[in-house]
Amino acid sequence: MQDNQLITKDPRSGELKVPNHPIIPFIIGDGIGPDIWRAASRVLDAAVEKAYLGERSIQWKEVLAGEKAHDKTGEWLPKETVDDLKKYLVSIKGPLTTPIGGGMRSLNVALRKALDLYVCLRPTKWYPGVPSPVLHPEWVDMVIFRENTEDIYAGIEYVAGSAESKKLTDFLSSELQADYDFLPNSGVGVKVASKSGCERLVRAAIEYALINKRKSVTLVHKGNIMKFTEGAFKNWGYQLAESEFADQTYTWDQWERTKSEKGEEAANQEQEAATSAGKIIIKDVIADNFLQQILLNPRDYEVIATMNLNGDYISDALAAIVGGIGIAPGANINYQTGHALFEATHGTAPRFANTDSMNPSSVLLSGVMMLEYMGWQEAANSITAALVKTIKQKKVTVDFYNQMSDATLLKTSEFGSQIIENL
Ligand code: NAD
Repeated sequence: MQDNQLITKDPRSGELKVPNHPIIPFIIGDGIGPDIWRAASRVLDAAVEKAYLGERSIQWKEVLAGEKAHDKTGEWLPKETVDDLKKYLVSIKGPLTTPIGGGMRSLNVALRKALDLYVCLRPTKWYPGVPSPVLHPEWVDMVIFRENTEDIYAGIEYVAGSAESKKLTDFLSSELQADYDFLPNSGVGVKVASKSGCERLVRAAIEYALINKRKSVTLVHKGNIMKFTEGAFKNWGYQLAESEFADQTYTWDQWERTKSEKGEEAANQEQEAATSAGKIIIKDVIADNFLQQILLNPRDYEVIATMNLNGDYISDALAAIVGGIGIAPGANINYQTGHALFEATHGTAPRFANTDSMNPSSVLLSGVMMLEYMGWQEAANSITAALVKTIKQKKVTVDFYNQMSDATLLKTSEFGSQIIENL
C-alpha cells in the first residue's frame, strides 16, 4: 500500500489530508446491509467518477464485523477490523446485529468506544418530494450532536436479584444515605456525565454552528430532574460557550443574569445586539418540551447538543418528520483524532434481508456526509441532487411508495441505478 492512499489528520492545523485515491474501509452490515450497501456504493463510485473524471476515486476495503465476521472468524468484532478503522481514519458501515449472548452489548457501542467516537452527528432535513406525516417538513433543518460515550449507555448495569445489584443498592443506602427504598427485585444502572465529556460534545456543536453559519445551538437536557448529570451538562455547556466562545456566542444564562441585574428589557436588548452582531445564541430546552417543540416550532432550532439517551430518542422523532429512518444518515466522529465512522441510523431490519426492497438512502446519505467530511463537495452535491430528482420522479422504494400516490415501485438496486442515471 502506498502512503498516498492514507487519509491523515495534521495534529497541528487539525486539517484532514485526503489523497486522491484513499483507501476507505467498509463494513457491509447484517440483514438488509448487503442490499443497501451494494446500491449505495455504486452511486458513490459513479458520483466520484462523474465529478472528478478519474482524478479521484475511493479504494474500498472490506473489513469484517457482525454476522459475517462471526461466520468467518468466530468473532463478532475482530481486532484487525478495529485496527483498520483506526489506521484509515475514515470509514463507513451498514447496520449490525446486536449479538445475543455474544458477550457484547452492542457492536455499535463497542466500535464507538474503541475509537472514542464521542460525537454522533445526525443532520435532519427534509428533501422535496419525500412523504412526511406533518404539514411543513421543510421547517425542519436541524443537526444533532448526540454524546456518544457516556450517560446510561456506559453499560454499567446489574440485573435484578443479582449479588451486584444488592451490593450496590446496599452501598447506596448505608454509605451514601440514598433517600430511596430499593425493592429487593430492582435492577440498577449507572448514569455517567463527565465535565470533559460534556464539554467536548458542546464544543464540537458550537464549532460546527460557527463554520456552517447556524444561528443557534440548543442544549437539550433533563436537568430539572437529573441535576448532577443532565443539569451539569447544561451548566457546563453554558460555561464552555462563555469561556471559549465569548466573542462569538450569547447565552441564555447571560440573558438571565442581565435580566436579574437590569431587567428584562435590558436583557432583550442585549440579546438583540448579539444577534445583529452575528453571534450564535446558546439556549437550552428540557427534553420533553423539546419533543413537542420539534413539531410545533421546528424553525426555532438549528444545532442540537444533547446527551446520549435524549439524542437517541430525538433523532428518531426528527427522522420520522422528514421521511423516516430509511433516509436518515449519521456519523460517529472524534474531532480531535479525525476518526469518523459513517453509518445508516436504522438497524438490520432482518425480516427484509436479501429482499432487495429497502431504501438505501440512509447509507447513501451517510456516504454523502463522508464525502463532505473529506472535502469532496462536488460529488456529495451531485448525489443529493440526483436523489431529490429520483424522489420527485416518484421512483421510490416500498417505504416511500406506500405513502405516495401514482409512484413507481423500485427495488433497492433499481433505485440505485435510477439515482446514477440522474447524476
Ligand atoms: P430496524 O431499524 O432494523 O427496523 C425497524 C423497521 O424500520 C423495519 O422493520 C423496517 O420497516 C424499517 N426500516 C429499517 N431500515 C429501513 C430501510 N433502509 N428502508 C426502509 N425501511 C426501513 O430496527 P429493529 O428491528 O429494532 O432492529 C433490528 C436489529 O438491528 C437489532 O439487532 C438491533 O440491535 C439492530 N440495530 C442496529 C443498528 C445499527 O447497526 N446502527 C441500529 C439500530 C438497531
